[in-house]
Amino acid sequence: MPRVYVVGAGPGDPELVTVRALRLIESADVLVYDRLIPMELLKRAKPNAELIYVGKEPGRHVMEQGEINNLLLRKALEGKLVVRLHGGDPFVFGRGFEECSFLISNGVECEVVPGVTSAIAAPEQFLIPILLRGVSSSLAIVTGREDPGKGFREVDFRRLATSVGTIIILMGASEACRIALELIQGGLSEATPVAIVTRAYMENSRVLFTALGELAKCQVTVENPSVIIVGRSVSLSPLYNTRNPVRH
Ligand code: SAH
Repeated sequence: MPRVYVVGAGPGDPELVTVRALRLIESADVLVYDRLIPMELLKRAKPNAELIYVGKEPGRHVMEQGEINNLLLRKALEGKLVVRLHGGDPFVFGRGFEECSFLISNGVECEVVPGVTSAIAAPEQFLIPILLRGVSSSLAIVTGREDPGKGFREVDFRRLATSVGTIIILMGASEACRIALELIQGGLSEATPVAIVTRAYMENSRVLFTALGELAKCQVTVENPSVIIVGRSVSLSPLYNTRNPVRH
C-alpha cells in the first residue's frame, strides 16, 4: 500500500530533527516542504530527489492546501517515497492532520513523524521554563490569527487570561497588541512578563522581554515568525534582566 510520511522538521536548526526524520529525508524520492523548515536539511536529499516548495507565508500561499493534498496523493500513487516536511511539529497548526485524513480517505497510508515544535523550543532557547512546579502548572498553545471567514473568534483571550499558567501564542505577530489588551481586560496585570522570541533556532534568533502593558500600547513591532510567551515563568529566565540579548 502506498504511504506518505508527514514529518516534523523542527523549529529551525537542522540538528533539531529526529533520527527517523533524517533517514526519511535521505531516502525520499519526493520531498514536499514549506517555508519554516531548516533548508539545510534539503542538502541531505538524494541527488535525484524531487524537491517541491509549497511554502506558506502569511497571506500568500504558493500552493493551496487542496493542491498540496492532491500532489501528495499523486506522487504516492506513482509509487514514490513521499516525505512531506513541516516546520516544527506537523500537527501543531501544521495542516498535517488534513493531509493525512485526505490521503487515508483515498487509500494511501500516512505515517506521522513528530517534530520539535516552536511552541516549546522558542521559550526553551532563551531559558524560559514554561511549566515549572510552583510557578506554572498549565499551558495553553493558541493561535493569534484566525480565519476572518469564520465570523467568530475561536480563542477568547479574556477568558483565557487567568485560566492557565503560561500562554504561548503562535501566528500572533500582527495581532500582538490586540491580544495583550484583551489579556489585560481578562484580568492579567499590566506587569505580567512577556517574551517575544523571533526566529527561534534560526540565524539571528532573538528575544525581546517586555510586559503586557507595554505590548498593549501597540509600539512593539513583532516580526514573523515569532512565538509570544505570556506568564510569570518568563521572568525566571536568567536572561530576563539583560536587555534584548541576541543569541546564535
Ligand atoms: N508546526 C509549527 C507551527 C506552524 S504555525 C510548529 O510546530 O512549530 C507557524 C507559526 O509558528 C509562526 O507564525 C510562528 O508563530 C511559529 N514559528 C514557527 N517556527 C518558528 C521559529 N523558528 N521561531 C519563532 N516562531 C516560529
